[in-house]
Amino acid sequence: MTTTLRTRVAIVGAGPAGLLLSHLLDRAGIDSVVIDQRSRDEIESTIRAGILEQGTVELLDTIGEASRARTVGHRHDGIELRVEGEGHRIDFAETVGRAVWLYPQHEVLKDLIAARLAAGQDLRFGVTAEGIEDADTDRPRVIARDADGARLEIEADFVVGSDGSRSVARATVTGSSTGGYFREYPFAWFGILCEAPPSSDELIYSNSPEGFALVSQRSDTVQRMYFQCDPDTDTAAFSEAQLWDELQKRVPGTTLKQGPIFQRDVLRFRSFVAHELRRGRVALVGDAAHTVPPTGAKGMNLAIADVRLLAAALGALLLDGDERLLDAYPETASRRIWKAQHFSWWMTSLLHVAPDATDFDRRRQLGELRTVVESAYGRAYLAEAYCGWPFDA
Ligand SMILES: Cc1cc2nc3c(=O)[nH]c(=O)nc-3n(C[C@H](O)[C@H](O)[C@H](O)COP(=O)(O)OP(=O)(O)OC[C@H]3O[C@@H](n4cnc5c(N)ncnc54)[C@H](O)[C@@H]3O)c2cc1C
Repeated sequence: MTTTLRTRVAIVGAGPAGLLLSHLLDRAGIDSVVIDQRSRDEIESTIRAGILEQGTVELLDTIGEASRARTVGHRHDGIELRVEGEGHRIDFAETVGRAVWLYPQHEVLKDLIAARLAAGQDLRFGVTAEGIEDADTDRPRVIARDADGARLEIEADFVVGSDGSRSVARATVTGSSTGGYFREYPFAWFGILCEAPPSSDELIYSNSPEGFALVSQRSDTVQRMYFQCDPDTDTAAFSEAQLWDELQKRVPGTTLKQGPIFQRDVLRFRSFVAHELRRGRVALVGDAAHTVPPTGAKGMNLAIADVRLLAAALGALLLDGDERLLDAYPETASRRIWKAQHFSWWMTSLLHVAPDATDFDRRRQLGELRTVVESAYGRAYLAEAYCGWPFDA
């Protein structure tokens, strides 16, 4: 038996991109249905991104008090680059007059889900999209199944694939699930969550001969830290003491405050941009369209920036019958996507030590780091990109 639903915009994926899009559409008076294959519990408890650009926080403000980014999150006015034990602060406020907020992605998702449900909007968990049909007509359809295996068809004026890096929608838009520009890196991040007080007030990005480490915070009692590792590292291969040794030797100059480690994961580095972002009445946003290595904290923020553009384009199409913004969407979105791709690649190569690095490579990298930290222009480039380019730039 098939249940058929009708809506104006069918959104596949209730990550930050899909949920925020549904809110912006609702504000414009456009109804949508959002489906996600995962349960609400799973979505609200998966630890991922942690840094919100200023523009992201401002867009989240549009959901009103439900957004706790400014009240529960922490504003950060700088980061530290640690070069062989020597600290250099990149002062965002002083260089570009902007800031970032430390507010975990799963908290953003709790806020967006609560706001969506409070507004009586249609959000369905445990519903998996299997494919999208009729993309080239003005009645595209999402073919999905709920947790009991029952078939659901969602007929819409437009379908948005916000279904993350393993997107089903991508194949409809690009012709294949892998159709895009791709790059892999010879290292990954070993991430831990631990119960301990913060080791620093701001994030420390540390380059050392042993490799890279990031000292980040979550709250007064829980901390998130990463160190550079081989992509095939087994998370169980290290004892807690060994993990603290690995972290500590990459952050000379700071004695890390240790505590029980209660989560560990290995995060592989990939850069990807889909060849196409739109086909007919189907478009991709967020990780479905692109992924970046995590070093520049751009992934979730870039997803939100796509959504801002697509929401305006869908408003023009569905309210005024004007397709111009939609036609421009792939090109307009690509400008920021490739800037963010470059920044993420640059921060990654600036800070990590490649497994095959020669003495020349290492000395050149230290020269590049000093070029950045000792120059007002170098610091300003980093600060502007890290806090997020203004949306109209
Ligand atoms: C460990 C880690 C750390 C990160 N750190 C940062 C950071 O510091 N800063 C930053 O900006 N970014 C960071 N990122 C990246 C960031 O998390 C992603 O870029 C962001 O989640 C993208 O949002 P999205 O909505 O596009 O996709 P997602 O958040 O991946 O959401 C996609 C949703 O679609 C659902 N879905 C998938 N397939 C289907 C289907 N067939 N049917 C129905 N639903 C489906 C999924 O269940 C999921 O809920 C990090 C990522 C990881 C993994």
